[in-house]
Amino acid sequence: MDTMEKQVVELENNCTCTNEDGSYSADCFGCYDDAKNNLKYLLKGWADANNFDADKQVVRIHGRAMTWLRSEGYAVVEFDSILDALTLNGDFRLTFTLEGSALSVRRGSHDEPTGAYFTLSVMERPEE
Ligand SMILES: [Zn+2]
Repeated sequence: MDTMEKQVVELENNCTCTNEDGSYSADCFGCYDDAKNNLKYLLKGWADANNFDADKQVVRIHGRAMTWLRSEGYAVVEFDSILDALTLNGDFRLTFTLEGSALSVRRGSHDEPTGAYFTLSVMERPEE
């Protein structure tokens, strides 16, 4: 049996660096890169939990309540392009939650005040 281990990584385009007293720092110490590194581990955990094979498989991202149109749709991307597929121009905050082998993402942005939601699944690479 798999244990339901839960991992959460938050990624924000705005600097989230803080001073020792907890206030926001005027200088950035690389928080976005730190968060990206944490995300790399989380995505690796997801890939391992799903026996993901990058030669044969791709990632299907299903989104709901996206943009001000609150549209629904999906994208098929390479494993290495997951983050690119979820980021926006402008301010955003992405919350990745990995529970067991299930990965979901919440995106908050100016046009998505109540959040857009994404689920990721593995699919066989389509024939070229
Ligand atoms: Zn920062």
